[in-house]
Amino acid sequence: MPDFSQLPSVEKLTAALEAGCPLPRPLITGFIQHELAAWRERLTDGREAGREEITASIRAGLLGFAASRLQPVVNATGVLIHTNLGRSPMGARGAEALQAIATGYSNLEFDLPGGQRGKRAAYLETALAVLLESEAATAVNNCAAALVLTLRHLIAGGKTEVIVSRGELVEIGGGFRIPDVLETSGATLREVGATNKTHLKDYAEAISDRTALILKVHRSNFTLSGFTSEPPVPELATLAREHQLPLVEDLGSGAVMATDDLAPIDHEPTPQEALRNGIDLVVFSGDKLLGGPQAGIIAGKRDLVAGIKAEPFYRAVRCDKLILTTLQECIDDYLQARGGDPPELPVLTFMATPVDDLRARAAAIIENLPGHSAALTVVEATSRTGGGTMPHAEIPSIAIAIDPRDRSLDDLAAALRTGSPAVVGYTQDDRLLLDLRTVFPHQDEALTSALQAALGA
Ligand SMILES: *Cc1c(COP(=O)(O)O)cnc(C)c1O
Repeated sequence: MPDFSQLPSVEKLTAALEAGCPLPRPLITGFIQHELAAWRERLTDGREAGREEITASIRAGLLGFAASRLQPVVNATGVLIHTNLGRSPMGARGAEALQAIATGYSNLEFDLPGGQRGKRAAYLETALAVLLESEAATAVNNCAAALVLTLRHLIAGGKTEVIVSRGELVEIGGGFRIPDVLETSGATLREVGATNKTHLKDYAEAISDRTALILKVHRSNFTLSGFTSEPPVPELATLAREHQLPLVEDLGSGAVMATDDLAPIDHEPTPQEALRNGIDLVVFSGDKLLGGPQAGIIAGKRDLVAGIKAEPFYRAVRCDKLILTTLQECIDDYLQARGGDPPELPVLTFMATPVDDLRARAAAIIENLPGHSAALTVVEATSRTGGGTMPHAEIPSIAIAIDPRDRSLDDLAAALRTGSPAVVGYTQDDRLLLDLRTVFPHQDEALTSALQAALGA
């Protein structure tokens, strides 16, 4: 007979663990009940454990569960658009506007001068079209939705084939693969060319009376180099026009500004350039290089955008008022930026921060951390754009390198991740690196306190 006497009661454990735990009581109690049941089984299976061990294990589990609540994180990875850390932080203006719209009523679908029902997102759509130099534009939940919606709209009757180069059958991440997206949309994939080379005649030969559109997919998360070629977009656009086929491009990464003006990195194709080259419709993400909220932006020919908006499925993937608010502020930020300066959006600001600024901040943080046994140094590091954008781009950066000396790296990294605020860095050459390029200057103080606590100083 197993010894269940070591199992604390739910009530006693709840009382003991409740203090300092940010979770609502029913979740704490539920978690404890679940864990106690697991321990009862373990004891039945012959495991031996005392009350202290059981309590400590449940406490650790509860803290882990509490840490899974969505909370702010200091991103010290140097990856600007970190998919696991929420991609792009929005600008301050977006956050302010969000506060006002989210906590009150708004003219979401109300024409204030006329006093009657108005069009949703009418202002945003006009602003987007002006920024993107397109005839029309709209926004939905994310780029994946924008692509599925566009494909669903453009395949009709017996025309279901979508021509895509074999060099562009991309997997974006999280299982998002272009062939699967096509299938989900009811389209049939017509692959052309080879992985490294696709010629104009490959596209031309694939066109039939079953063709619905030609799709280009930006290789946003990998590069193809060496013996490669693809037809220039203007030539592909001429071919598409001759056959009255729409030419669509999934740009994904969504740099609206010339990224090579901000940092010593490659030029990322912009939607404006794509449309100028003859693409009829572009789709891209709102929360990658654009620096806005999660959204999928669709821009291009007026009749195509209007047709997409008339799809019943559009309703299922349209943006809510919170996204429309922050996207509206983000697009206005771009339109109001002057003299080629980037708008004040964190991703762009981070990209353009001079290394010397980062170096000075790193030194100041280390200076404010006396009395610990770890070795802290300022080192050169490499930031990346990440999040399925510019795989080649390496932005010179500065990091604080920590050699914990009398404890393991994993232990220190875990202490920082579960500290307040949570800090996420990366390990390299037996040191923990905290890249300052992706840390907001206003977070330096909090980062210093978090380090102080984790280093036990
Ligand atoms: C990131 C990306 C997507 C998916 O965008 P979401 O906004 O995450 O849906 C689609 N296509 C390309 C080329 C991308 O880079």
